[in-house]
Amino acid sequence: MTKSGIQPLSLNLPEDAQLTPVDDDVYWLRMPLPFALDHINLYLIKDGDGYAALDTGIGTQTTERLWERIFSESGIRLTRVIVTHMHPDHIGLAGFLTEKFEVPLYMTMSEYFVSRAMVAGGRGASNFNDRQYLKRCGMTDAYIEQATASKGGLQKVVRPIPLGYIRLTEGMHLDIGDYTWKVIIGRGHSPEHACLYCEHKNILISGDHVLPNISPNIGVYSTEPDANALKLYFDTLPQFKNLPHDTWVLPSHKLPFVGLHTRVDELIAHHQKHLKDLLEFCIKEKSVNDCLPVLFQRELNEHNMFFAIAEGLAHLNYLFYDGQMTKRTDSDGRWLFTTSKQASL
Ligand SMILES: [Zn+2]
Repeated sequence: MTKSGIQPLSLNLPEDAQLTPVDDDVYWLRMPLPFALDHINLYLIKDGDGYAALDTGIGTQTTERLWERIFSESGIRLTRVIVTHMHPDHIGLAGFLTEKFEVPLYMTMSEYFVSRAMVAGGRGASNFNDRQYLKRCGMTDAYIEQATASKGGLQKVVRPIPLGYIRLTEGMHLDIGDYTWKVIIGRGHSPEHACLYCEHKNILISGDHVLPNISPNIGVYSTEPDANALKLYFDTLPQFKNLPHDTWVLPSHKLPFVGLHTRVDELIAHHQKHLKDLLEFCIKEKSVNDCLPVLFQRELNEHNMFFAIAEGLAHLNYLFYDGQMTKRTDSDGRWLFTTSKQASL
C-alpha cells in the first residue's frame, strides 16, 4: 500500500486495442480520446462463447478501426453491450457495436433517454438557455458568443443510439457468463450511472463514478441550472464503502486500483475543501466565474472551462440548498452568491 492507501493493480498497461487480462474472465483495454485526458478504459467480460463489452469508446473512425482490429486479431464476438452512462466516450460506439453483432444494449433508463436527447441536439430550438446560463454564471459577452457558436453537436462523436435497450436498475443482478454482477447506481456525475460489482470476484467496474488520481466532474449545466448535482454525488458515493476494502476497482480512466474506501474518503474530502474555500471566498458576493480561481489553480482552456463553470455552479448550488449561501440575480442577470451569517465556517 502507498501512503495514501491506494495501490494500482499490477497489470500491464494495454496499448491501444490490446487486451490485458484482469483475471480469467475479464479483459482491460484502452481506447484513445482526443482530449487532455487522452484515454478511456473499457472492459470485456466472458459471457458464454463471447464477451460482454463494458462501455464503447468515443464514436470516431479511430476507435471503430481499433475495435475492428481487436475483433479480427482475437476472434472475439460480443454478446451484449453494457454502457455505464451517457457521456460520449462511453456511449459513442454503442450503435456501431450493437449493430455489428446484433446484440442488446444495457443501460439505466435515465442514461439511455438522456443520451438519445443529447444526440438529437436542439432540433431548431434556440440556444437562449445556454446563453442565459452562461450570463447567469458571470461569463463575458465575448465568451458567451464564442461558447454558443454552433460546433456541429455531438453527432460527430456519438453514433446513432440503438432504438431499444434493456433497462438496468439499482440492485439488479445480471448474470454474465458464470458470474453474477450487481448493479449499483451512482448519481451526480451523470443522472443514473451504473456501476457493476461481482461479489465472487470482488471486482467493481466503477465507470466515472469513482476514479483514482482525478476527481469525476460533478457539474450543473444549462439543461438543468437549478440541479443539486453535488448532493446527489454525496448521497451515492459512501455506499461504496459497504464493499470490501480490498475490492479491485476497474475505473474508466487512469489505472485499476485497490483502496476503494480511501478513495471514497478522498473524493468527499476534495469536495468538502472546495465548499469550505468557497464559503471563505464569498463573504462578499461573487459570481460563478469569480469563484473559478478558488476551485481551479490551473489555466483553463475552452474544453476545460465548460466543465469548470458547471463544477463551480454545482458547489455553489449545493451551499445554497444547504442554507449556507444566499443567491440573488443582479440587474445584469448574474447570479451572485454570498456566504450566510449562519454558515459553518
Ligand atoms: Zn462521464
